[in-house]
Amino acid sequence: MAVRGKVLIVEDDRAISNFIRRVLEANGYEALMVHTGREANSMLSSHCPDLVILDLGLPDMDGMEVLRSLRRWSLMPVVVVSARTDEREKVCALDAGADDYITKPFGTSELLARIRTAIRHTRTTGGSETIARSSRFTARGLTIDYDKYRVYIDGRDANLTQNEFKLVALLGRYAGRVLTYDYLIREIWGPNKAYDNQILRVNMANIRRKIEKNPGEPEYIFTEVGVGYRMIEGD
Ligand code: CA
Repeated sequence: MAVRGKVLIVEDDRAISNFIRRVLEANGYEALMVHTGREANSMLSSHCPDLVILDLGLPDMDGMEVLRSLRRWSLMPVVVVSARTDEREKVCALDAGADDYITKPFGTSELLARIRTAIRHTRTTGGSETIARSSRFTARGLTIDYDKYRVYIDGRDANLTQNEFKLVALLGRYAGRVLTYDYLIREIWGPNKAYDNQILRVNMANIRRKIEKNPGEPEYIFTEVGVGYRMIEGD
């Protein structure tokens, strides 16, 4: 099997870093492990991995420092591992340039999904190239037609408004990845509406009524409580 990518694991908890390494190696990735922020900083520049899995609670420094210093010179994808349930911290990490996060305890499929998505988005420069080529996103019964500005559910037009379409289109472009409330609001309504979560909640409720079989248990667009929304990975 060809190596699918080189992943640097920055995690001081040996049980967790060994678990991550086993999962990665069993799935065709090359895994490198370090346990401190200092080691991380030197490995990042010397080994240029395809992706970094970064624990925020490191013994010698905050993982956020590693992230901030990395972002000064590199866009390599970073998935943050957080033991903390503090949503503000996750938002902070995303704002500082993390591509996604995963909360302990996590399972194999969740870990692999985050890694796959983060690597895919770098390789296609933000995912927009894939879309440009196909101009269509599909996941199960959902189809986003980027040429016609339409969303279909099982072939039936969901009749989204313009802003509803923009929201779904944006989430589809970054499918599998969390997009923060703040980011979505700025992209759709502009900076003046920033932090006005109500407008987003109302639009999302309407979208769900139109595209989900059961809006209370969505199968296409998931809520990341306190952080944002995530579109299911495409087919
Ligand atoms: Ca830790």
